[in-house]
Amino acid sequence: MTEREEFLANRFSKIIQKETVSSFSDTDLTKFYAFHDLLREEFPTLFQVCEAEDFSGSLLLRWKGKTKKDPILFMNHFDVVEGEGNWKYPPFSGTIEDGKIWGRGTLDTKSGLFCMLQAAEELMQSGYTPERDIYFESACTEECTGLGADTISRELQKRGLHFYYTLDEGGMMIYDPIGGADGVFAMIGVGEKGCANIRFVARSAGGHASTPKKNTPIVRLSKFVTAAEKSHVFQKKLNETTREMFRRTSTKMKGALRFVLGHPDFFAPLLTAVLPLVSDTAAAMMKTTLAFTQSGGSESFNSMPVEAWVGADMRYSHHQGEKSIDAVRKIAEKYGVETEIVDPAFPSLVSDYRGESFGKIEKAVKKIFPDVIPSPYITNTASDSRYMNRISENCFRFTPFFISEEQLESIHSVDENIDVSCLPKAVEFYKTLLEDC
Ligand SMILES: [Zn+2]
Repeated sequence: MTEREEFLANRFSKIIQKETVSSFSDTDLTKFYAFHDLLREEFPTLFQVCEAEDFSGSLLLRWKGKTKKDPILFMNHFDVVEGEGNWKYPPFSGTIEDGKIWGRGTLDTKSGLFCMLQAAEELMQSGYTPERDIYFESACTEECTGLGADTISRELQKRGLHFYYTLDEGGMMIYDPIGGADGVFAMIGVGEKGCANIRFVARSAGGHASTPKKNTPIVRLSKFVTAAEKSHVFQKKLNETTREMFRRTSTKMKGALRFVLGHPDFFAPLLTAVLPLVSDTAAAMMKTTLAFTQSGGSESFNSMPVEAWVGADMRYSHHQGEKSIDAVRKIAEKYGVETEIVDPAFPSLVSDYRGESFGKIEKAVKKIFPDVIPSPYITNTASDSRYMNRISENCFRFTPFFISEEQLESIHSVDENIDVSCLPKAVEFYKTLLEDC
């Protein structure tokens, strides 16, 4: 480990050691304010230079720039999900071992927060003042209600602010993101799918299980679930962002794949028909997805359910939007199943990868990681960024870390970790953006 790596790893470890699990039910903000105190200790210059505002535990900092040009917003939430399961090192130990830092939040996404604030702290210490106002936002609600970012974006809108761009967590740097490409790509999210939590409910008069009737609630739900999975109600479309992602990833492919993905406009019908059959990832990029994740029925083995239900997670595409819900509702009705929307989230706008501000992020990637190819994409996961379309049409989702497939799987799971070697370059990446603004 270099001296610089050790310095940053030790500082970052402290950030991981402060437990900041958020939940829908716990409204006590004490631990979040304890985290603010830690940030104040660790980034004294930052808190001296910036105006800090608290939004019920979520934090907004403003670094005043030289001009009145549209400001930039850097964001990364500081709340994390539970550290359940059997971990190699305790989830809130911040253990530094095997060239990695281990713990909940090392990827999602205290690492992004730490590196962006570290970059600002160091630039401030060297006397730098940015051209524009720079805002840093860190919510304590991303993993549950999303209320922090929602409130802050409304407030910024009320103040009449329009942002040059916003940069939040989202994609990272990964090897071969879609299969077949021999290269590392910086996946920069330019939009995210909408999502809805849906309950499908089947009812009956109940009764004793010893004399069952036909077509009871669970039977109808089973038929519905099977029919929904087999159906083709979600329209496939190759949007412009995905086409560009194919063009860029194809540059590291070989043979026919390189040729076909390199010309997505020409081959769109073929790609739309074939890719979803061979790749779930590709399918999710082209259409709405529906995943059945929960179910419930009668309380006892021997009584028929008065109400049985299955819960599903829907991620709807930009082209079909909320009409995806109507499409699946129609299938449900055929089986006497009701559709209840528990929690809908609107899909974000898609930001333009050809725009000037996306260009700044691309430029910073190429400068700090010369072998990495930046590529736009649409994320399947919801983030705080979707609220920021109120204040900017350029909302990007990217943190500058190399991660392996294993590390990707550790997010929201056990043994979350980041390579120590990621930290110095990530700080340089944010410095580059702060200096080129
Ligand atoms: Zn996150």
